[in-house]
Amino acid sequence: MGLFDAFSARFVSYDCFNCGRGVQSSAALRGKTDTCPHCGWKNAVPAKSGGSVSPTPYQLFRRALDASDVQEKVRLLKQALEICPTHQRSLKELGILLQDQCREYALAAEYLRRAADNAIEVLNNEPILDFRMNLLDRAATCYTHVGRYADAVSLWERVLREGRWSPNAAGKIRYDLEAARAKMQGRPAPARTYGSRRQTAAGIDRVLNTLESRSLAEACAQATGRDELVTLVQSWGFPKEDAENLVYDALLCCASAKGEALRLYRRKFGDAT
Ligand SMILES: [Zn+2]
Repeated sequence: MGLFDAFSARFVSYDCFNCGRGVQSSAALRGKTDTCPHCGWKNAVPAKSGGSVSPTPYQLFRRALDASDVQEKVRLLKQALEICPTHQRSLKELGILLQDQCREYALAAEYLRRAADNAIEVLNNEPILDFRMNLLDRAATCYTHVGRYADAVSLWERVLREGRWSPNAAGKIRYDLEAARAKMQGRPAPARTYGSRRQTAAGIDRVLNTLESRSLAEACAQATGRDELVTLVQSWGFPKEDAENLVYDALLCCASAKGEALRLYRRKFGDAT
């Protein structure tokens, strides 16, 4: 018996069902489960090396990332979740895709919450608590798009209670929470203050005009579009944090009632023109 044969008689090699990395289990564990040393997933040990189910949820997830078409990505991720309904990577990716690209907010919220509930491992160096809280924050935003303000409020209350947020991030969440509460009670959304009063109204106005001159939907959906806008607003003389808030508020205005929001800002901060 050669060295390789001796090794393969004692070990079974296969790719982890969940994280796709290579795993070796003792041959004695064939047909039983063994824990992946990389991610902690309990794999069913195949009878022979390379003999695990194919494709694995991880392989489908990778294919979804590589696919250029959004509907194809959605199809592959749903297929991964049929094989493994708790696959953390696929749940997260599908939730974000449905929210940012497809705007299927009710469904997106469902997947985002499932991703948070089933988080078992650190992805991209993001601690599990932060992973959960960021996705729940997204889910709450989705609820506001479909008028489920009570669900949004209770989720944001939880996210503020359990999450670790920078003062700036916590401020944004508190604002969202107040806006959702206002909607629930039929009140107008509160306006935020930053910089000088005139600057704020002028900033919102300019961001909205800039948005109108581009493809509005695209700018709202793309994180890169947002970053670009923030850089632009900074070039108008706003500090980074104020620029981020202005862009954020302007996007909220166009997503819901732009005219109403602008009137509110003008009343609060004065006519900036
Ligand atoms: Zn693994």
